[in-house]
Amino acid sequence: MAYFILLGPPGCGKGTQARRLSQSMGLIQVSTGDILRQAIADKTKTGLQAAEVMERGDLVSDEIVTALIAEKLENIGEQGVIFDGYPRTIPQAESLDQLLEKCGRAIDCALEMTVNEAILIERISGRFTCADCNEGYHDKFKPTKVDGQCDLCSGQEFKRRADDNAESVKQRLLEYHQKTTAIISYYQDRKLLRRVDGMASMDQVYADLESIIKTYC
Ligand code: AMP
Repeated sequence: MAYFILLGPPGCGKGTQARRLSQSMGLIQVSTGDILRQAIADKTKTGLQAAEVMERGDLVSDEIVTALIAEKLENIGEQGVIFDGYPRTIPQAESLDQLLEKCGRAIDCALEMTVNEAILIERISGRFTCADCNEGYHDKFKPTKVDGQCDLCSGQEFKRRADDNAESVKQRLLEYHQKTTAIISYYQDRKLLRRVDGMASMDQVYADLESIIKTYC
């Protein structure tokens, strides 16, 4: 049972890779972005607090995010975990270490996906997902095979994230540089950081991540 973190700027493909790794390696995917979007859809108090902040592309407060993670970790049991989009600040990384320490666990490896940021705005702005099975698509790089129909489940409804527009993406990248890049050194200092080339094909990135993860499982 090992614990991993996927690091990298918005749009580098963390969510897609974490989803695939969780399915094939039996890891639980813990994505704070997904948890927050669910809270917004459920109209919970946290969701109401987070919605506007997220739409602007700013970071939700460390207090809210840490409380969500503490609740999630209580229900995880013995499976390994892959965190995606979390932690995003030094205080979050410190809280995570403390939360894991309380249950005798620790982060085994932080995997950074390195990308050329010039491509990120275009990558993010064209994203959409199937509303039924969540399969991810892109207007230019991965359109559906049949127009308006999901390749996997034939669903015909699709959704786009409220923060996947050029304005919010710029703000999300700014937040990444101001607050999140510091955690790369946090894990490097602890000798827990590994890097993969996030510009390679999706299958290659997956293979690179999988081969590192396998050494811990
Ligand atoms: P993501 O799905 O990871 O791209 O996250 C979408 C948005 O949710 C971010 O732009 C933030 O507003 C918020 N969010 C997700 N995870 C975190 C986190 N760990 N800390 C603060 N805000 C977060």
